[in-house]
Amino acid sequence: MATGKINVSVENIFPLIKKFLYSDHEIFLRELVSNATDATLKLKHLTSIGEAKVEYGNPIIEVKVDKENKKIHIIDQGIGMTGEEVEKYINEVAFSGAEEFLEKYKDSAKDSGIIGHFGLGFYSAFMVAEKVEIITKSYKDEPAVHWVCDGSPEFTLEAADKQERGTEIILHIAEDSTEFLEKHRISELLKKYNKFMPVPIKFGTKTETLPKPEDAGDDYKPETIEVDNIINNPNPAWTKQPTDLNDEDYKAFYHELYPMQFDEPLFNIHLNVDYPFNLTGILYFPKLSADLQVQKDKIQLYQNQVFVTDNVEGIVPEFLTMLRGVIDSPDIPLNVSRSYLQADGNVKKISNYITRKVADKLKSLFSENREDFEKKWNDIKIVLEYGMLSEPKFYEKAGAFSLYPTVKDKYYTLDELKENLKDKQTDKDGKLILLYASDKDAQHSYIAEAEEKGYEILLLDSPIVSHLIQKLEADNENLTFTRVDSDHIDNLIKKEDAQISKLSDEEKDKLKGVLEEIIPKANYTVQLEAMDSHAAPFRITQPEFMRRMKDMSKTGGGGMFGMGNFPEMYNLIVNTNHELTGTILNSEDKTQQEALVKQALDLAKLSQNLLKGEELTAFVKRSFELIK
Ligand code: ADP
Repeated sequence: MATGKINVSVENIFPLIKKFLYSDHEIFLRELVSNATDATLKLKHLTSIGEAKVEYGNPIIEVKVDKENKKIHIIDQGIGMTGEEVEKYINEVAFSGAEEFLEKYKDSAKDSGIIGHFGLGFYSAFMVAEKVEIITKSYKDEPAVHWVCDGSPEFTLEAADKQERGTEIILHIAEDSTEFLEKHRISELLKKYNKFMPVPIKFGTKTETLPKPEDAGDDYKPETIEVDNIINNPNPAWTKQPTDLNDEDYKAFYHELYPMQFDEPLFNIHLNVDYPFNLTGILYFPKLSADLQVQKDKIQLYQNQVFVTDNVEGIVPEFLTMLRGVIDSPDIPLNVSRSYLQADGNVKKISNYITRKVADKLKSLFSENREDFEKKWNDIKIVLEYGMLSEPKFYEKAGAFSLYPTVKDKYYTLDELKENLKDKQTDKDGKLILLYASDKDAQHSYIAEAEEKGYEILLLDSPIVSHLIQKLEADNENLTFTRVDSDHIDNLIKKEDAQISKLSDEEKDKLKGVLEEIIPKANYTVQLEAMDSHAAPFRITQPEFMRRMKDMSKTGGGGMFGMGNFPEMYNLIVNTNHELTGTILNSEDKTQQEALVKQALDLAKLSQNLLKGEELTAFVKRSFELIK
C-alpha cells in the first residue's frame, strides 16, 4: 500500500470547494457522469482505431444510491486507469485543476452568475462527500487499483482485485449533503443534466410487462420482468441529420424536451454548423400570447450533450430567447462572466448565425407556403417585431416576410402595400398613408367610416407596434402610419371632391364661440370641418404623433421618451355640414343649446371609449331627460 500527500499550495482546498458554489453542489453528479462518459467514449475511439485490443460491446454507466451506508456509486466500463494514471490524472491534473479554478474565481465567482456551470471536474465530488474512493482497472493489461482520499491532501493507493475494465467512484456522502441519498433527488438530477448524454445511464430497474404470447390461453396471466432503468436518450434529435427527421420526429423531441408542455410548436429550425465554430441544435417557435408570461420552458444549452444551463442570455439574441429548444456547442466559453461572454468574438458569431438561420427559415416558410405562414403570423409576430427593432441584421432580412394584416384578415408585405395603395391612399404631398387600427372594437366607428370610403385598414395590435412603425417611417421616407382615429379621414387622404361648407365665415366664427364657451378648452381643440352631411357631427380624434409618443413611453422608448407625462389632448372635429350643427348654431334657447353641445360631445366621447365615471352618469341622466 502506498500513501502520499497531494502537492498543493493551499493546505486544504476541500473546505474551499465545499464553501464554493453553495447552491450548485448538485453539479458533482453531472461532473462524475461526464467523466464516466468521456472514459467510455475514449475506449470506443481506441477500439475503433485498433489501439485498444478489447471488445467495446454495449457499455453503460450505472449510478447507485446506497442510502443505508450513505454511499453513491458511479460505475463505468470505460478505459479505466492504471496506478500510474491515477497518480497523474487524479492527484496531479485534477487536483491542480481544482486549485487553479479556486484561485482564479474565489472572488469573482459569486456574482458572475455562470460559474456554477463550469466543471470543477472530479474534485467537485468533495462538495458532497467526506471521503471518495476510486476503484479502477485500465483496459491495458495491468492490475486494478484502489484510491482513497478523505478530503485532506493525504491519500492512499493500493492494489485492488477488480476484474472488469472500467472505473467505480464511491462517494461517502457528508452529513450536510444527505439529500443526495434520496433516490428521487438523484433521479431528478440525472434527468436535468444527463437526459441526452451519449452513453446509456442506468439508475435502478423497472418492471416491464412481457408481450402476451400468441398461443396464450384464457387463463393467461401477464408476466413481468425487471429491466434496467435507462434514464437517458443517447441519440437525441439534434445530433441527427435533418434529412433523417420528419415533422413528427421534431414534435416528438419537443415533448421529450418539455414533458409538461402540451402545446404543439408552430415550426422548428435545425441548426447545424461546424465552421468557424461548432454548433448543433433545434429551435422551436412556440405559440406566444401577447402577455408574455414568465417563461418556464426555455432554450437549453448543452455542451456535447451535457446540460449546462437554460439561461442563454448573451448567447442567443435577446428576441429569440422567447423560443424553445436546444443549442449544443463546445465552443461557448462557460468559465467567464456574462459581460465577457457578450464581448467574445465566437459568441457574437454564434448569435449572428442563429439570427441568420432564423431569418432564412422564416423566409422559406413564407415563400413555400404563404397561406400557412399567414395563419401563424399572429402567434409569431411579437418575436419578429421585437427582432426587427433590436437586431439590425434581422430587420434587413425581415422585410421579405414581415406581414401587415388588415382588419379584414388579409396579409400584405410592406412592398405589397406600397404597390397596391400608391394611387389610392396618399396625402396632398403624395405621401403614402397607411391607416391602421389597434383595436377593432374600440375603434369600430372610425374603422367603419374609413372602410366605407374604400380604404385599406391595417390591424396592428401588438404592444410594441408604435416603436416599429416609428422605425419603418424613418426608413421609408414616403410613408406615414396613421391610426384611424387620429384625425378626420378626409383631412388625411387627398380627395378629389372636397366638400364645401354650408356655413358662411361669419356663421363659423359664431359657432366656434358658442362651442368654446361650453367645451373645456384645456382638453379639446375645436376644429370646424366641412364634411359629408351624413358624417358624424362631432368626433374626437387624438393626433397620431401625441398618441404614439405616449404609447412608446409606456412600452419603453429607449430612453429618448423617458417616462414623460403626456397630457391628454384631443381634437374635437365638428362637421359644419351636419344638420345638428345648424340646429346648435341657430338655437335661441341657451339651456337647450348647451344640452345639445354636451350631448353631442358625450356621444363623441362614447365612441372613443372616453366617457367614464361621473361624466357617464351625467350623460345617462341627460339622455333620459331628452327622451322622456
Ligand atoms: P477533466 O475531466 O476536465 O479532465 P477531471 O478532474 O474531471 O478533469 O478529471 C481528471 C482526469 O482524471 C481526467 O482527464 C481523466 O483522465 C481521469 N478520469 C476522471 N474520471 C475518470 C473515469 N471515470 N475513468 C477514467 N479516467 C477518469
